[in-house]
Amino acid sequence: MTKRAYLTIDDGPSERFTDLIDFLHERKIPAVFFNRGDAMEQDPDAVRYGIERGYIMANHAYSHRRASTLSLEQIAADIERTEDILDDIYWSCGVERGPLYFRFPYMDRGMGPCLAEPKQITEEHEAAHLKLIGSGLGHEPHKPNQAAIEKKNAIQSHLNEYGFQPLPVQNVNLPWYANTEMASAIDSLCTFSTSDWALCERHKGKYGFETIDDLKTQIDNDPWLHDETSNHIILAHDQAEIYDVTTALIDYFCESGFEFLDFETKTH
Ligand SMILES: [Zn+2]
Repeated sequence: MTKRAYLTIDDGPSERFTDLIDFLHERKIPAVFFNRGDAMEQDPDAVRYGIERGYIMANHAYSHRRASTLSLEQIAADIERTEDILDDIYWSCGVERGPLYFRFPYMDRGMGPCLAEPKQITEEHEAAHLKLIGSGLGHEPHKPNQAAIEKKNAIQSHLNEYGFQPLPVQNVNLPWYANTEMASAIDSLCTFSTSDWALCERHKGKYGFETIDDLKTQIDNDPWLHDETSNHIILAHDQAEIYDVTTALIDYFCESGFEFLDFETKTH
């Protein structure tokens, strides 16, 4: 049986963005890119290059700050500023935008390092969530207070009213995703992080990963990733410094029997 996954790529466009587009395009691997507004402003041509090759470009806020440290107004302004940039880029290449998708930097949904309200979370869920957002960051289980939960809810309402939609993924039924608010979130989440970022020079060795082989071992040993009854949502990064890491890991997924799925976009 084939293992199936959706690929999402955060933090672009870097100086290697068009190389990454070519890499994926040659392999016919679909992906959604969650791009930084500030980086797209610097290099709109790279984003156009991706759109012209059929890739979906989406919103990763303007300057990669943690939502839990920002006011609602700041978050809304960051999101809108990035939407304006995306609109301009799509318009300039004559491609109509499909549905709008958003992913929070650090997947900080406004509650800090916590993906769902504590009342929904079992110990098994918590371990999976921490692995996903902690990825060796040393986060302890985090219980957001009522104000943080209300803030998260207010941001969800804002995203909904703005017109954002959940990522169009099917059959993602891991219990800690399907049975928590992860499955109904307007913002785009994921179910496995490659931790490719951890091999940037400034991070290398600090989070338990020294080499690409360490990250391949993480893929081999993840307790959920090889569940063939569920589809998976993979997170990787577009950062020039780790281009070789990210592409090696995507190839490793393919070698390990994963098929990358098309996003079933529902246009109205
Ligand atoms: Zn990011």
